[in-house]
Amino acid sequence: MAHVWRGVMREFADRLGVTDASTVVTLGEGGTPLVPARVLSEMTGADVWIKFEGMNPTGSFKDRGMTVALSRAVEHGAKAVICASTGNTSASAAAYAAHAGITAAVLVPEGKIAMGKLSQAVIHGGQLIQIRGNFDDCLEIARELSENYPVHLVNSVNPDRIEGQKTAAYEVVSQLGDAPDFHFIPIGNAGNYTAYSRGFMEEAAAGTSTRVPRMFGFQAEGSAPIVRGEVVRNPETIATAIRIGNPASWELALDAREKTDGYFGAISDTAILAAQKLLASTAGVFVEPASAIGVAGLLERSAAGVIPAGSRVTITVTGHGLKDPQWALTQEDGSQVTPTIVDAAPRDVAEVLGLSPVGAPA
Ligand SMILES: *Cc1c(COP(=O)(O)O)cnc(C)c1O
Repeated sequence: MAHVWRGVMREFADRLGVTDASTVVTLGEGGTPLVPARVLSEMTGADVWIKFEGMNPTGSFKDRGMTVALSRAVEHGAKAVICASTGNTSASAAAYAAHAGITAAVLVPEGKIAMGKLSQAVIHGGQLIQIRGNFDDCLEIARELSENYPVHLVNSVNPDRIEGQKTAAYEVVSQLGDAPDFHFIPIGNAGNYTAYSRGFMEEAAAGTSTRVPRMFGFQAEGSAPIVRGEVVRNPETIATAIRIGNPASWELALDAREKTDGYFGAISDTAILAAQKLLASTAGVFVEPASAIGVAGLLERSAAGVIPAGSRVTITVTGHGLKDPQWALTQEDGSQVTPTIVDAAPRDVAEVLGLSPVGAPA
């Protein structure tokens, strides 16, 4: 019989300390595809695979941590959860809270949230509040409220989030039969970088993999506090999911880089958008801009001569392209893509497509 995926808490119950008595709030997250990237492999001489986290229930990897965070909150009797978000955390928290029958309050920075994510938080019944400030301001407020009011914090400073997110590394090892040589990943708050590092280290310690990959994490140039080694007061990038100037898991990420012989790099918005387009048009994987930064990072590190030929490389692409589709329709000169319009006649369509009738002289 085909195996029906039961969500990360049940699939990895022994690893996450889940028993039959545990409360499990799940939408069936995890079990995402690992897609071979032929053109990226040809371009780099490496064996490149894409971990497509946009395939989670709310369209981002946040669901892996949210199932654990919401389950533990409900188990402890919480009636409300709160989070700060650049968009995907709010979408995920609102969906899982709706499923559990409790309230989610979500704090987002005014005007910097992609439409797809905002619509998710609203339709799932989240109590959405826009803050006149950036993500870092939102997180400070959410933390303070969770200390002084009866609301449970579900940002990635909550260790349950990191626990759940580790499962993606378990899946990569199981899908490849071993850990890769390099793993590329975006960095915002650095929670996911930390989670994958831990997951891969656990696998190696358990003997299910023969190595720990070198963890290569990337921030946008206008929002690269860890790369620069200082807080960025007014982070700017079109990759809103990683527009974070003071990462919550900064120290944990430094430790993880040390332990995995990793690397942190900064990538321009132009290179991010080019990578987004390249991935969509050559691998068939559509991701939001922030999620493409690992692809841009691979191209940059490969050009720098750091990735030996034949290396096995995995790249986590964190969120689905439909979250923030405007960039797909914007051309390099800033103009919008407009489809060609013709009359409802096959010959007119064939002409636009450059087709000649079958059997016609060339
Ligand atoms: C949250 C998020 C990130 C950043 O993850 P961190 O754990 O905060 O580093 C990257 N990409 C997308 C699409 C996200 O939603």
